[in-house]
Amino acid sequence: MAQLNDTADGSRKSAVGPRHVDVAVIGAGAAGLVAALVFARDGYRVLLAGSVKAARDGRTVALLDGSVSLLKRIGAWDAVAPHAAPLATMRIIDDKGSLVRPPPVAFDSAEIGLPAFGYNVENADLVEALAECARQAGPDLTFPGTDVVSVVDEGPLCRLNLGDGEVVTASLVVAADGRRSPAREATGIATREWSYPQVAVTLILTHRLPHRDTSTEFHTREGAFTLVPLPSRPEAAHRSSLVWMMAPERADRIAALDDSAMARAVEDRAHSLLGAMAVEGNRGSVPMGGLSVRSYAAGRIALVGEAAHVFPPIGAQGLNLGLRDIAALRDAVVDQADPGDRAALASYDRGRRLDVGLRTRGVDLLNRSLLSGFLPVDVARGIGLSLLDRIGPLRRAVMRSGLAADEPTTPSLMRRADAA
Ligand SMILES: Cc1cc2nc3c(=O)[nH]c(=O)nc-3n(C[C@H](O)[C@H](O)[C@H](O)COP(=O)(O)OP(=O)(O)OC[C@H]3O[C@@H](n4cnc5c(N)ncnc54)[C@H](O)[C@@H]3O)c2cc1C
Repeated sequence: MAQLNDTADGSRKSAVGPRHVDVAVIGAGAAGLVAALVFARDGYRVLLAGSVKAARDGRTVALLDGSVSLLKRIGAWDAVAPHAAPLATMRIIDDKGSLVRPPPVAFDSAEIGLPAFGYNVENADLVEALAECARQAGPDLTFPGTDVVSVVDEGPLCRLNLGDGEVVTASLVVAADGRRSPAREATGIATREWSYPQVAVTLILTHRLPHRDTSTEFHTREGAFTLVPLPSRPEAAHRSSLVWMMAPERADRIAALDDSAMARAVEDRAHSLLGAMAVEGNRGSVPMGGLSVRSYAAGRIALVGEAAHVFPPIGAQGLNLGLRDIAALRDAVVDQADPGDRAALASYDRGRRLDVGLRTRGVDLLNRSLLSGFLPVDVARGIGLSLLDRIGPLRRAVMRSGLAADEPTTPSLMRRADAA
């Protein structure tokens, strides 16, 4: 029998052979942390490989209703909630200056019986809160803070070499190692990548007027300019985050502005909707592109989060979709004796193709329609927004589909507690 030695982090290392876990999660970003907590909650022995290094660069994530339900079920919401602000109204304002100017459209969560569509939280706060939950999850979740150097699918098991020299075997590997995913590369799963002539500038602002739990997405010729509520702080009553998509040349010019010139530029672009502004903390910028995969699983390795899909931040779909990957993966394997069961992973793969494919195409179409200067495209968008403004049932259907909550295909952990 293998001899096991206790280590400082509570994990156990075998003196004569590799330690075995049911599930190894690679990557300690938001997706990996949630995946580890989900599988540990079901009683699996979980290894979470990776270190916590979320930059404070103004990036926030709007977690929609299903994601909040998931965080509540894994006991993480109480740690995240103090950093999050509710999104009760989402407003779209066409600011393209085109001949056909549709009216602003507002989506109110009360129309579909919800107090909020979701909650906006700074990505670094989310990751740090989830990491603390992972550290306190108990002996079944080990989180040594080391990266994976290599992963090999050997058929009956996967073998992982960790940065600290330990070798671990796992029945299921969850690759949550981001857009460049070394684990995905190890599987040989083919990808398709594309880019947009845009950069997303991210920052946090304090402002004079209250946001009233409302996000505002201005549609401009260079993409979306979206202000999203954040919670107040003792030193700043009114705070919001901004994702400003713009042409790369403008992003270069904007990067050179000092904070007060930047705040004025934002206030102008927002038509002083929230009054005078000031920049809080560091800014970020991300070149816009997309990535899709040929398959969501290969052998015993399943892809989740940005390892499986990347697209521009419109409609708050990215991480929400990543969390849906995790909840769907859990539903696919939870009743199997072997969590890396091939048939279960094939079923996960089939389920994700439709959901991720639809959202990737939807976001791509909307983003390209903003960039297009072609009048018929403007007219079609204008008609679409006018219909949404006027037809209540259509608006409610769009809101429900944006949330993807409580549909027959919604994974069980993402259903609202009152609907579960
Ligand atoms: C401007 C902007 C705004 C956005 N807004 C929203 C929003 O409002 N709502 C929303 O849902 N989504 C939003 N998104 C998308 C969201 O931010 C991403 O989907 C999410 O952060 C991806 O998380 P992840 O854990 O999959 O990947 P990552 O955060 O990239 O994490 C991957 C982790 O894996 C680690 N890693 C890599 N290789 C290894 C290895 N060998 N061993 C161990 N660890 C490894 C990395 O160090 C990293 O920590 C936005 C994105 C952008 C750019």
